[in-house]
Amino acid sequence: CADEASGTAAPGPRSGDAPLLPVVGASTTVPLVDGTSRTYANLDCAASAPALESVGARVAEVLPLYASVHRGAGYLSQVSTALYETSRQSIARFVGAREDDVAIITRNTTDSLNLLAGVVPHGEAVLVLDVEHHANLLPWVQHSGGGQSGTGRVATVLPVQPTVAATLDALRTELARRPYALVTVTGASNVTGEALPLDRVVGLARAAGARVAVDGAQLVPHRGFSLAATDVDYVAFSGHKTYAPFGAGALVGRRDWLDTGVPYLAGGGAVRDVRADRTVWQPAPARHEAGSPNVLGAIALAQACDTLADLPAGALEAHEQALRDRLVRGLERLDGVRVARIWPDSTDPVGVVTFTVADLNPGLVAAYLAAEHGIGVRDGRFCAHPLLAHLGASHGAVRASVGVGTTAEHVDRLVAALGVLLVRGT
Ligand code: PLP
Repeated sequence: CADEASGTAAPGPRSGDAPLLPVVGASTTVPLVDGTSRTYANLDCAASAPALESVGARVAEVLPLYASVHRGAGYLSQVSTALYETSRQSIARFVGAREDDVAIITRNTTDSLNLLAGVVPHGEAVLVLDVEHHANLLPWVQHSGGGQSGTGRVATVLPVQPTVAATLDALRTELARRPYALVTVTGASNVTGEALPLDRVVGLARAAGARVAVDGAQLVPHRGFSLAATDVDYVAFSGHKTYAPFGAGALVGRRDWLDTGVPYLAGGGAVRDVRADRTVWQPAPARHEAGSPNVLGAIALAQACDTLADLPAGALEAHEQALRDRLVRGLERLDGVRVARIWPDSTDPVGVVTFTVADLNPGLVAAYLAAEHGIGVRDGRFCAHPLLAHLGASHGAVRASVGVGTTAEHVDRLVAALGVLLVRGT
């Protein structure tokens, strides 16, 4: 990483020259508009990351053992139940859960944050910034009566300020203005990769008697995370962004609200006893996992967590930081490309980079990259409309994001392709 930044080549492979971990489909070739084909450069890992090879192998291994969990008496049901519950433990361990925390298997981050919004006690207030992905914005607004189903809770959406320091000051001022039960922040923006310093947010919230929830969709897969080490109360993340297939995610955190709050889904498995006139609900996690759970999804996510946890300390950060630095340096060398930042004083962003290319339509830029260079990026407003407006990109932008399967060749191909486009388009 340091070698990359100084431009002095170190002996042996540098971070980012090769994939950090093998992912399935890495050698997939895609057709180009000129009739040739090229190895796919997946620079859209922030949307969904390709599955790890270890995840693919694990899914193949457990597929024959697939049976109903918890209530089945047969041997395969017992095996599946054990696999499901050990997966829950791996997932909890991966995010540094404390002994009394509970891990609920959900579908994804959106599911997790909606679940959490539903268990915040009635009459309590939640504080959120307007830079969030809609998944960490709309559930709070919806549950505060801003949507169709008001539940007596209050949500304050605080406008972001031009610097980290000013934004933290605004949080401090707002926390002094009225009592808040919860402050919920992104661990890393899905638009710029930036975040507020978590220790400062936790310090401010604690001083005001509030809990902290982290939208870990972009943080957990790319940096790792620990509830215990950060003193954060809840974290939500998605399997399909953590190198596992779609369909499983998690909400992990303090047990009390989750044990007593409104069950997320009503149905079988979430109840202890049902009579004509009363229902006795289970505590968490069963309370919020009604219906037949996604056993394979949980096993796949747990395998991804275990594989990432086995990486040498610092390897994940070094790989992705080297690629992000290379990408940003390459983009900034191109006349007409503007890289978006929320705060000039933020530090250590993850590998998500959003940019505009002269006055070119972002959709056309993304289509050109796919059709002529076999590069997958994303364009649009990234489910963060208020943030895009704040960044002066209400009409959208282009986003490139890296992961453990990304290499320097992918990044260099993108930068070179944009260079060609700028020459051609101006
Ligand atoms: N939060 C962030 C920061 C995200 O990047 C995303 C997805 O892009 C989400 C939440 C929603 O994740 P999911 O679609 O897996 O629920």
